[in-house]
Amino acid sequence: MTNPILADWTTPFAVAPFDTISDDDFAPALERALATHNAEIDRIASTAEPPDFANTVEAMEAAGADLDKVLSVFFTVAGADSNPAREALQRDFSPRLAAHFAEISGNKPLFRRIAAVWQARDSLDLSDEQQRVLMLTHRSFVRAGAALEGDAELRMKEIKGRLATLGTGFTQNLLADERGWFMDLSEEELEGLPDFVVEAARAAGAEKEAAGPVVTLSRSLIVPFLQFSPRRDLREKAYRAWTARGANGGDTDNRDIAAEILTLREERARLLGYDSFAAYKLETEMARTPERVRELLMQVWTPAKAQADADAEKLTAMMQADGVNGPLEAWDWRYYAEKRRKAEHDLDEAELKPYLQLDRMIEAAFTCANRLFGLEFAPLDVALYHPDCRAWEVMRDGAHVAVFIGDYFARGSKRSGAWCSAMRSQAKFPETQTPVVINVCNFAKGDPALLSYDDARTLFHEFGHALHQMLSDVTYESISGTSVARDFVELPSQLYEHWLEVPEVLEEFATHAETGAAMPHDMLDKVLAAANFDMGFQTVEYVASALVDLAFHEGAAPADPMARQAEVLAGIGMPAAIGMRHATPHFAHVFAGDGYSSGYYSYMWSEVMDADAFAAFEEAGGAFDPERAKALEAHILSTGGSKEPEELYTAFRGRLPGVEALLKGRGLVAA
Ligand SMILES: [Zn+2]
Repeated sequence: MTNPILADWTTPFAVAPFDTISDDDFAPALERALATHNAEIDRIASTAEPPDFANTVEAMEAAGADLDKVLSVFFTVAGADSNPAREALQRDFSPRLAAHFAEISGNKPLFRRIAAVWQARDSLDLSDEQQRVLMLTHRSFVRAGAALEGDAELRMKEIKGRLATLGTGFTQNLLADERGWFMDLSEEELEGLPDFVVEAARAAGAEKEAAGPVVTLSRSLIVPFLQFSPRRDLREKAYRAWTARGANGGDTDNRDIAAEILTLREERARLLGYDSFAAYKLETEMARTPERVRELLMQVWTPAKAQADADAEKLTAMMQADGVNGPLEAWDWRYYAEKRRKAEHDLDEAELKPYLQLDRMIEAAFTCANRLFGLEFAPLDVALYHPDCRAWEVMRDGAHVAVFIGDYFARGSKRSGAWCSAMRSQAKFPETQTPVVINVCNFAKGDPALLSYDDARTLFHEFGHALHQMLSDVTYESISGTSVARDFVELPSQLYEHWLEVPEVLEEFATHAETGAAMPHDMLDKVLAAANFDMGFQTVEYVASALVDLAFHEGAAPADPMARQAEVLAGIGMPAAIGMRHATPHFAHVFAGDGYSSGYYSYMWSEVMDADAFAAFEEAGGAFDPERAKALEAHILSTGGSKEPEELYTAFRGRLPGVEALLKGRGLVAA
């Protein structure tokens, strides 16, 4: 019998036939798909025909279709609906997939063919998109070390292996420090904490098998504790433990690991011919150079620090009015900021919630996409992997565009967070395929399901990623949809969040679950104002981390990263009462793997662009300006990675992004 994953999918729009696939099908399907992919790659690498674009680059684009099918189904259910069998499969698959792709990028005969096509590129009469795909393919092989020979090649292998080990060690030490610490709270020490924090502390106590409630170092518990506990001594104790993660001495100390990682990254970049690891990392990003990243961060830093300094004075005065003398400390900031928030923006989440119904918010996201891009959504009856999943057919002018799947509710089998993935990406080669896109969230179930404002923003965010996939209109899958630079990929998602804030959208769709009444105007104003609260603090703690990350990867690696961190913070005048969002010994974004190393800035980079891009709509006359919407689709949402991000943005906006809209949006300059 044919494995249902590898068979032709005869379902509507060839959505994966989840109801015919069992967990036992995954391992044999992966086995066959890997073998097929290897055979395809071997054929491309060993053909006697002289290398050209079609028999090398296009052939690689077409290869691996079976593997795509297996992985799209498997990773969908492994992330959103796992079970012990799927977890075991994932442990087995991960190293095998890593080895499979490493073998391809280290395939010398294959690389020689790609390099030959690259050398001949000017005489090949390629389209712009083909040139781009060729450049990206060649570049990714070179960056992986495919052009190295002899000792350099061996050393690169050693470095990669050692970096993988160090990254895992860094993560495990961090987990050990996080799990090892908790602070018991007596009943009296719970005073002043809101119910949800008390409940979380009791649950954490039960989990740790402690005598009663405890505070742990999990962000979701310690941050509200620091925000609400009136006990300054306990706040100090908890804060010190939180910021000492990875720097407690002994076996779990991460400081030497961080130093070794930075040294090896520098060596790796130099082997590949770059001046520094930052230069290597940023080559593929929109920012391109460390100088441009620093320039942007400093443009934001200066007004953010001014705002934070002014806020610190207000908070100090509140603390003194409480009878506490001496300077405001890092364990005081969140507590007095929370008091101030209550006083200035008394927004009651419980009162707000009935206005934010999940179904109405989905409708709001769809309606905005209809007004902007003419998309229509019709419920689609297909078998999915869980009864909570819903599907829609997305159409425009009567033509099929995509299938959109929403899996919104939290459950034990789903990993935390929210994400968007394409089960099938848009492409026209080797044949036309329309996208199947899924949004996965972790909202609380209810009848009706109600969202917090943050949840509603998450829904719009993930739907923005989905639009980037669904409106994609390119030839090759490798550059389709969200296959763009890391510091560009959050632009469509963060930009879409702005439509939730458009007053007419909330007025129409934020209706009370019981009465059906629209959200009152003063509540709407409070929601919008509260979004900007304490932005001086938030910007400072983030930008400080981003600047330290950048400094670590420029020029020679620091022998003592902690000294380098102190130097950077002194250089920018870090406010005494604000800590870095992530200090070096627990900066997992940067040290657990390569992903965000010299890339932590990219959240801010994207935010600068989304604010600037939305301002383009406002300048043009409104959030639904049809010309702007057309330009957004033509130059950003449909183009995937077919051009340099800078070129795409400039085509949309007529210029590169400036920071003014972001500063205004964060309340860091007078509007
Ligand atoms: Zn995102």
